[in-house]
Amino acid sequence: MGRIEQTLRGAFLMDFWGAFALGMRYFFRPKPTVNYPFEKGPLSPRFRGQHALRRYANGEERCIACKLCEAVCPAQAITIEAEPRADGSRRTTRYDIDMVKCIYCGYCQEACPVDAIVEGPNFEFATETREELYYDKAKLLENGDRWEREIARNLELDAPYR
Ligand code: SF4
Ligand code: SF4
Repeated sequence: MGRIEQTLRGAFLMDFWGAFALGMRYFFRPKPTVNYPFEKGPLSPRFRGQHALRRYANGEERCIACKLCEAVCPAQAITIEAEPRADGSRRTTRYDIDMVKCIYCGYCQEACPVDAIVEGPNFEFATETREELYYDKAKLLENGDRWEREIARNLELDAPYR
């Protein structure tokens, strides 16, 4: 840029007007900022959030205590104890996940033959103490009951790609 051209640009505040026009263009555009927690962005059906243990529609636990999830967990975050019931079916007596250890890899969900343990869409489960992140079976079943509708819909949406 020549000296005269530079002087003219400075005299007419060309850089200022250019920046002003750019600012105004973005001022009137729809804002991409999400007003969290009142607004939330879209989540993939494969999102790996808080764990949940699911039940069948009749209320029976899906988990058959095969312990595949416990075996596959790379963080050794899952602890399962099991006993046969009076009717001969095998169910867990203890199902704990140490969510502090968990790395949200999703292997437990992948390994489960009956879609019992899943990582649901809930990502809002921050706590103030570590103890609150030691989930037991009751807590996991409660998560499942609470999120079943969303979990079932996500599994259905993802099914064609599995
Ligand atoms: S998501 Fe991964 S690390 Fe967490 S409990 Fe499941 S298998 Fe273990
Ligand atoms: S959650 Fe699934 S993989 Fe884990 S013990 Fe139960 S049935 Fe087996």
